[in-house]
Amino acid sequence: MILNSVKLPHFARAAESITEVFDSPKTVVIAMSQHAGAPCEPLVKIGDFVKCGQLIGDSEAFVSAPIHASVTGKVVAEKEITFLNGRTSKALVIETEGEQSVFEDISPPVISSREDFIKAIRNSGLVGLGGAGFPTHVKLNYDRTKTTIDTLVVNGAECEPYITSDYREFIESSDEIINGIKLVMKYLEIPKAVIGIEKDKPKAIAAMREKLENEVNISVRALKTRYPQGAEKVLVYQVTGRVITEGELPMSAGCLVINSSSVSFISNYIKTGMPLFWRRLTLDGDIVDSPKNIVVPVGTTLREILNFASVKDIPEKVIFGGPMMGNAVYDLDMPITKTNNAVLVFGKQKEIKSTACIRCGKCTYVCSMNLTPTALEHAYDARDAEELKKLRVNTCMSCGACSFICPAKRNIAEKNLLAKQFLLTADKK
Ligand code: SF4
Ligand code: SF4
Repeated sequence: MILNSVKLPHFARAAESITEVFDSPKTVVIAMSQHAGAPCEPLVKIGDFVKCGQLIGDSEAFVSAPIHASVTGKVVAEKEITFLNGRTSKALVIETEGEQSVFEDISPPVISSREDFIKAIRNSGLVGLGGAGFPTHVKLNYDRTKTTIDTLVVNGAECEPYITSDYREFIESSDEIINGIKLVMKYLEIPKAVIGIEKDKPKAIAAMREKLENEVNISVRALKTRYPQGAEKVLVYQVTGRVITEGELPMSAGCLVINSSSVSFISNYIKTGMPLFWRRLTLDGDIVDSPKNIVVPVGTTLREILNFASVKDIPEKVIFGGPMMGNAVYDLDMPITKTNNAVLVFGKQKEIKSTACIRCGKCTYVCSMNLTPTALEHAYDARDAEELKKLRVNTCMSCGACSFICPAKRNIAEKNLLAKQFLLTADKK
């Protein structure tokens, strides 16, 4: 049963800040791999002039997503970048030049069937904006002879502290969200949609309910403010009561889960043909004077974003994403990708030392995947691949709830990441 969770402190200082647009970075670094699946190959070369929305990277692989220029300017370099998870990617460096203009070939897609719709979503470059980065067209392209989807579950939980980018989408683009939901329902023939929003966002719940007053097939479910409410398996259970068994996807429970900002993007793309080359993110942290939500071109570097922020002290730690699942950045020249939803900037923190496990069991109690983090830790320390498999380490979703609750401040969630990596290597041998 998927029920366990933790209550996190509610930090959402940027919630009521209207999104500002930062559209003029000097340089962007656009990674050719911003998604799960095959990386793209550059379609332009050094010296080429590109415009906003122009296709600059693609792959023939189905599980991939095309990459578009996010600024108008000149390609000045191609380089390799290393992401925070250790993966590497080719990247194009573009210096902005002249007036920022949209590529001439951009026009709304013509859609008359499910196939057209899925193809259009592929061309848009959309990947899951909740952070997973799975190409959306792949998710939509399920085999209808084997899978019946009766519920579209729209993920508006945004359950990590600080992050308010989806929340702003609800407040600023509620019509787009509803239109995007209707488009997915229409072309995929899904009869019902439920939007899951946590109760600590009452304005978003009210805004959506008001707009949906006369809709019988789309509803809003107010969810308890718990973490990790936005994890797909947890969300599906909370919204429909259906349990997704181990190793299965939400589709096995008749559900298709899509992020609220993703459906909003779909609506905008179908109307305008403007592909995904910008990103809304929350800029916050204890040394950020005025937390805000900003829209930046994909590829904007952290260095340029920090210039835009009013930071009152020397940053000691910068995180891409939320404090629970985000990653600390080691290089200020790291670029924003399509999947970033927050930049958090922190000053010097009190050092926290881990102590011995007191066997309180809290880590097991809060794990929504019903794992036993202490047993996993022992198995990893012993490099026992069989035991790690038996204890289902690969179902750990790295939510960090176990580390958060641990009174001994043990980094048990981190150990699971190492254990998964160890299993990968052990299986290859
Ligand atoms: S990080 Fe993994 S083990 Fe820890 S609570 Fe989350 S799912 Fe469970
Ligand atoms: S929460 Fe921490 S102290 Fe308690 S059992 Fe888990 S690892 Fe040990």
